[in-house]
Amino acid sequence: MPEGDSVWQAARRLRALDGQVLTATDFRVPDVATADLAGSTVLTTIPRGKHLLTRFDDGHTLHTHLRMEGRWDLHPPGTRWRRPAHTARVVLRTEQLEAVGFSVIVDLVPTDREDELVGHLGPDLLGPDWDADEAVRRLAAAPDVPIAEALLDQRNLAGIGNVYKCELCFLVGVDPRTPVADVPDLQRLVALAHRVLVANRERPVRITTGDSRRGRSTWVYGRRGPCLRCGGPIAVDGQGSSDRDRVTWWCPTCQPARTP
Ligand SMILES: [Zn+2]
Repeated sequence: MPEGDSVWQAARRLRALDGQVLTATDFRVPDVATADLAGSTVLTTIPRGKHLLTRFDDGHTLHTHLRMEGRWDLHPPGTRWRRPAHTARVVLRTEQLEAVGFSVIVDLVPTDREDELVGHLGPDLLGPDWDADEAVRRLAAAPDVPIAEALLDQRNLAGIGNVYKCELCFLVGVDPRTPVADVPDLQRLVALAHRVLVANRERPVRITTGDSRRGRSTWVYGRRGPCLRCGGPIAVDGQGSSDRDRVTWWCPTCQPARTP
């Protein structure tokens, strides 16, 4: 599931295109189907939270969002794609490389209007301008919102998806349904979020436990079995929801509900 760390990795992969001239582009979404950027040079790709911004020298920015299943693959032109062609949403081709965005959301905007797409985002956990105090301030501004929901709200801080939402609540021992106002130490939680994303941005597998073994890399996310720390049962909520971001795992023993 794409979160800030995997989006950061996708941006790094896409930067292999930097400085190259596009020989062909193919936009397979209705809103920009007629766009053609052939002849422009790729400037660079930057991650912003869970968004990717690929800038071109003709003054356009390609905005992509990986949602739940999206990914960017890069390979030499003419190579057989590793994913079904009907899920391709955008293709950027140069002499040396072909980049294909599968199952991504695609927008093409003038670069000077990027803010319309990402201006609402809170401080970016993996951005050069990360601002922990501002993230804490934004979280604290809505004291009644459950902490799990507040962490997912990219307007508070950008880069946390469902995996980190669950894992961070575990790491601070807080029931995910706890209102923000009752979370004992928001500064610590935000600092931890930053530390964990930075630690994982270079890793192929997301680890929050310090243990890379299969089935032991996360404390609660996606777990059915006993809690790795206390051996108790893991609780899960929201599984009937169509939005997988709403599914929450936690350990009721390690993360006791707070009684006001
Ligand atoms: Zn436990």
